[in-house]
Amino acid sequence: MNNEIERRRTFAIISHPDAGKTTLTEKFLLFGGQIQVAGAVKSNKIKKTATSDWMDIEKQRGISVSTSVMEFDYEGYKVNILDTPGHQDFAEDTFRTLTAVDSAIIVVDSAKGVETQTRKLMTVCRMRKTPVIIFINKMDREGRDPFDLLDELEQELEIKVRPLSWPVNQGVKFKGVYNIYEKKLDLFTPDKQRVTEKVEVDIDSAELDAHVGDRDAAKLREDLELVDGVYPEFNVEDYRSADVAPVFFGSALNNFGVQELLDCFVEIAPSPRPTKAEERMVSPEEPKFTGFIFKITANIDPNHRSCIAFCKVCSGRFVRNQPYLHVRLGKTVRFSSPTQFMAQRKSTIEEAYPGDIVGLPDNGIFKIGDTLTDGEQLHFRGLPSFSPEMFKYIENADPMKAKQLQKGIDQLMDEGVAQLFVNQFNGRKIIGTVGQLQFEVIQYRLENEYNAKCRWEPVHLYKACWIESDDAAELESFKKRKYQYMAKDKEGRDVFLADSGYVLSMAQEDFKNIKFHFTSEF
Ligand code: GDP
Repeated sequence: MNNEIERRRTFAIISHPDAGKTTLTEKFLLFGGQIQVAGAVKSNKIKKTATSDWMDIEKQRGISVSTSVMEFDYEGYKVNILDTPGHQDFAEDTFRTLTAVDSAIIVVDSAKGVETQTRKLMTVCRMRKTPVIIFINKMDREGRDPFDLLDELEQELEIKVRPLSWPVNQGVKFKGVYNIYEKKLDLFTPDKQRVTEKVEVDIDSAELDAHVGDRDAAKLREDLELVDGVYPEFNVEDYRSADVAPVFFGSALNNFGVQELLDCFVEIAPSPRPTKAEERMVSPEEPKFTGFIFKITANIDPNHRSCIAFCKVCSGRFVRNQPYLHVRLGKTVRFSSPTQFMAQRKSTIEEAYPGDIVGLPDNGIFKIGDTLTDGEQLHFRGLPSFSPEMFKYIENADPMKAKQLQKGIDQLMDEGVAQLFVNQFNGRKIIGTVGQLQFEVIQYRLENEYNAKCRWEPVHLYKACWIESDDAAELESFKKRKYQYMAKDKEGRDVFLADSGYVLSMAQEDFKNIKFHFTSEF
């Protein structure tokens, strides 16, 4: 059992759209032998055209089901890559997926540097102290100066960095990378578009000049000296405690620098770590099974409204057909066909170990965040909701179908499609999302899966803040003063719906003993 845990690497590849996440994932799968040719992995990016074709979105959702988890064996390690939606309107899904990983690889476009989505995702990693490795991609294109990029990473992502490889020029003059970790030079040949040679060269030898030319050799020596001067020696523990992010340079498209990244990753990335439950810390080595649901995906076949709930195994061994406790429902459940996922297929499994993701057929019994155990009353926590960025009232557009609408909204929210707030003053329901596409998906799915019709009405809101205070009187007085803007989230927590940044800062100013949180986990 300990050996099985030790060899598992469960992680997510995250990036701002277009930085190269899909391309890198695909190259990893090639090394893992899961696919034989490039181009076999479909991007689960939802491309929205002016006249959006809904079947297309449905199909693409289907693709994202099959590529939700990708498992492969590599050099004795069992690698589980958790895929995240490419479209930023589904960022919540990505945030939740990050609660199920033990580490992450962040892909950054060398020309664009840190982008909005990178920043947000890193916030989640920081909150959870998830170790990250950064891959600076597209070195075959004209990009920014590596030192500038590293400074930007440190500043914007609020983490110390340590380069473990270093590029020799870039764009059309890109010659390769010097692998600081292995002290080897990997040469890039542009016309062949892949690594042609790996040479062990002493950085001070004339051999280096022979390989990359005098000028680039001199620059590399100078750069490496600076790197060693500026960045402290790499220490695995600093990485695992999420204090330092190792950085690699390469080109995913050209499969350059990718294997080096993968080799270093499996060696240094943490195996499954203890998971925090409300009651106690749960260590993966414990013999009894525990796990939690971090993602629910609806089936694309409208005739069989069934979902797959993704369960991360936190401790013990998960066994098929074994009775487990569904803690929230207080019910015993068994799974006769739990699945595991390979690049494009899925198969029934007999058992799974900590770090693994098991797909459980779900006919509506699961909510995001549910805990499964071998009988113990445990509640895994830490599935944060973030303040949405867009808000709309949801109204019933077909009075005959009020029940269906209610059921649909409830289930979609359980799946985590968006967030629901009920205004305590007028009882109206407000849906909060990260992007417009989520509203469209909700409306479409309500019609197709629940036979209910909804209508959106505008509501002008700036942010939703979860509020708390040790000063009960002040909390009460705040709620009284702001009664028109007080709502409850799905868990019944108090949420203040601020209609402008000004109102929010005034409230923060006037009520000093109240804490305003922009995530539900505090
Ligand atoms: P994702 O949105 O992060 O999944 O990005 P993709 O993997 O779909 O890549 C976005 C685009 O960048 C695609 O057209 C890729 O072919 C391209 N791309 C990815 N990696 C590289 C690279 O190393 N060099 C160049 N020039 N293009 C790349």
